[in-house]
Amino acid sequence: MWRGAAVRAVRGTGSSRAASGAAAAQLRRWLEGELEGIRGAGTWKSERIIASRQGPHLRLAGGGAGILNFCANNYLGLSSHPQVIRAAVQALEEFGAGLSSVRFICGTQSIHKDLEEKIARFHQREDAILYASCFDANAGIFEALLTPEDAVLSDELNHASIIDGIRLCKANKYRYKHMDMHDLEAKLQDAQKHRLRLVATDGAFSMDGDIAPLREICQLAQKYDALVFIDECHATGFLGPNGRGTDELLGVMDKVTIINSTLGKALGGAAGGYTTGPKPLIDLLRQRSRPYLFSNSLPPAVVGCASKALDLLMESNAIAQSMAAKTQRFRSKMTAAGFTISGKDHPICPVMLGDARLAAVMAEDMLSRGIYVIGFSYPVVPKGKARIRVQISAVHSDEDIDRCVEAFIEVGQKHGALP
Ligand code: PLP
Repeated sequence: MWRGAAVRAVRGTGSSRAASGAAAAQLRRWLEGELEGIRGAGTWKSERIIASRQGPHLRLAGGGAGILNFCANNYLGLSSHPQVIRAAVQALEEFGAGLSSVRFICGTQSIHKDLEEKIARFHQREDAILYASCFDANAGIFEALLTPEDAVLSDELNHASIIDGIRLCKANKYRYKHMDMHDLEAKLQDAQKHRLRLVATDGAFSMDGDIAPLREICQLAQKYDALVFIDECHATGFLGPNGRGTDELLGVMDKVTIINSTLGKALGGAAGGYTTGPKPLIDLLRQRSRPYLFSNSLPPAVVGCASKALDLLMESNAIAQSMAAKTQRFRSKMTAAGFTISGKDHPICPVMLGDARLAAVMAEDMLSRGIYVIGFSYPVVPKGKARIRVQISAVHSDEDIDRCVEAFIEVGQKHGALP
């Protein structure tokens, strides 16, 4: 009886139920105005619907099959790796769909502890702590670690989640110019009056594909007695000889104190994030970090994916190295064709176009030729610096890359971006 009534109530007449009342009507008017404002400013973000697994070749909902995908963070192609998928299925069957609980109440399984141990081993750190995302890891670290007596020095182009995490803490805040070591040094001098100094930077910056000058940052940190924090979302798994990240690439693994990174990009691509570093720091985060304390445990299937991805990377460095040659092929062919590609040696390859409209129409035209790339313009990137961001994956074939370059040349000539 009850079940039938509930089902009828949920299904209703098939239409949604709008809240009534003056406040609800006022809210609706305000929301519609805001949405109109976003559309009017030309900054509306729409989502393409994918009807297949993530990979270099996609099927889009409503038709488009065999689309060549150049805009995922699937740097190593592990998102659809058969062993990664099998590990997820096994974890799901053995450990269930989820824990229905936060970690400290009834939500820690052996696989969570194993994965934390594996992450720490991968990065050669003392311990690690899992979060539902790296956004959460960034939201949860600064407030737990820094007091009003401390200082945090942050690159002005750091990821939004670092900016939000820093907003939540009560430390004194310094924002230094992007990768500008003179500015960082001046700010470190000013910050000497504080108890503890933490320099926070993305290891690799996702809009420009540039890599933080970590050697210089670590030298300054040593000189001014500061700690270094890096966000390695666009580095873990593929930068450095063994894919350990920016700190390995630049030879400063022993100088960076704290690493935050994601399981949702190169490491299987499911979801999840973590902090790895000194054991007492990780112990403190388990006691004080709010996104960890008050959010559900990572689902077993997600843990299974990440754990297998790390196994694959620790077994051999061939995967980590597999992408570099592809990146080099794309960057050199595009540069030879006359395009300007921002950054250096990173699989994020921003094709710099300047004009926002040009970036948008070229990206559309690329899709009509079966190449999926995304145009970025203000406010995501500075005015006048619109671009199409191309992301290379280890599972792109040389032919895939050549097809993408050829399409860029045709589209660039058609729209006047190339002579
Ligand atoms: N940090 C950086 C630099 C990122 O690019 C992202 C994702 O876009 C995040 C943090 C957030 O990672 P997650 O998707 O795991 O929340």
